[in-house]
Amino acid sequence: MTDGPSYGFDTLQIHAGARPDPATGARQTPIYQTTAYVFRDAEHAAALFNLQEVGYIYSRLTNPTVAVLQERIATLEGGVGAVCCSSGHAAQIMALFPLMAPGRNVVASTRLYGGTVTQFSQTIKRFGWSAKFVDFDDLDAVAAAIDDNTRAVFCEAIANPGGYITDVRAVADLADAAGVPLIVDNTTATPYLCRPIEHGATLVVHSTTKYLTGNGTVTGGCVVDSGRFDWSASDKFPSLSAPEPAYHGLRFHETFGPLAYTFHGIAIGLRDLGMTMNPQAAHYTLMGIETLSLRMERHVENAVKIAQWLEADPRIAYVTYAGLPSSPYFDRAKTVCPKGAGALFTFAVKGGYEACVRLVDSLEIFSHVANLGDTRSLIIHSASTTHRQLTPEQQKAAGAAPDVVRVSIGIEDADDLIADLNQALARAVA
Ligand SMILES: *Cc1c(COP(=O)(O)O)cnc(C)c1O
Repeated sequence: MTDGPSYGFDTLQIHAGARPDPATGARQTPIYQTTAYVFRDAEHAAALFNLQEVGYIYSRLTNPTVAVLQERIATLEGGVGAVCCSSGHAAQIMALFPLMAPGRNVVASTRLYGGTVTQFSQTIKRFGWSAKFVDFDDLDAVAAAIDDNTRAVFCEAIANPGGYITDVRAVADLADAAGVPLIVDNTTATPYLCRPIEHGATLVVHSTTKYLTGNGTVTGGCVVDSGRFDWSASDKFPSLSAPEPAYHGLRFHETFGPLAYTFHGIAIGLRDLGMTMNPQAAHYTLMGIETLSLRMERHVENAVKIAQWLEADPRIAYVTYAGLPSSPYFDRAKTVCPKGAGALFTFAVKGGYEACVRLVDSLEIFSHVANLGDTRSLIIHSASTTHRQLTPEQQKAAGAAPDVVRVSIGIEDADDLIADLNQALARAVA
């Protein structure tokens, strides 16, 4: 597609990054199922290895199918470049890797995907990195947590598990003032509902496993760079501003300007960490992303109907959906994600733990799985599964109290979903 900054989201989700295959004219993006690419000659090979020329060398680094998806996601997010990875968790490590070093920390929201809490509180310690968890509704606490060793601030736009909305602009301003980038995990919002870069985010990460693919088939992740951060403004980010020994002293920021972070992600991150997305996965995600806006509209429409129905039901204690006027995040949602507050929320069932377990077991359309962002409606009782190891107090603080279930509302008929919840609640709260 030719450059068309004025094209709308629905056009870009189908065309951005793609063009008819130059070799065959194939209209759909081919799956380039190849490991390596033939060099024109020895000089061409040397130029590619020196990063003097951009091209394909080996599919751990770049692949034409994956490249289309990278450009598509970067365009939809309003970024300058993107690097796809093997999973959302890989994308998080890839996002932090150029920024962090032993002794450095990331200031992270307490309201995050459970797996991210584990990755940040346990696993990254093995690299000598650490995370400081703060309530991101308390901006003074966020500012106080950022110290001389902080190299990134991390949050989700629409946060797990309750669909809480982060004031991305306010947090971005704090990160800016401290001279560190804000990374926003935009998995649960998608660029259709929220574009964090427009609210001041430096980097956006995705688990493409969820809504971007949308059909529950492949795991994948992506790191998008806004291209706006000045990596040379301080000596905090030597991987990007100082000479890189592995490339004869090349300085990424000086050489590649706004694309420095993306080039580093490929030339160092994928080269040495190898968390690469394969072309088959990119194909499935490209198929899904073509209908992203249509799906998100229906996800949101269904979520509103079901949240309203649940809130009015006497068997339900409360519903956390930010699309309901009763939510403390209702007004903020209109600024952060004006097209809707997503389709992920929790609700509390009168009858507690036992009633939740019976509810989950009695549903017929909803699947009991540890996933979200599928076309299918999903439910999980966190206290008996993902948050089982925590004390009841910790479960409550995490938004996963024993009487709470989390739903990811799909794009089936809303009336069928309501009927399913109704029959299952009748059995659960007997
Ligand atoms: C699923 C998810 C992740 C992790 O992604 P994977 O593809 O499962 O590795 C990270 N953040 C959020 C918000 C998620 O929903």
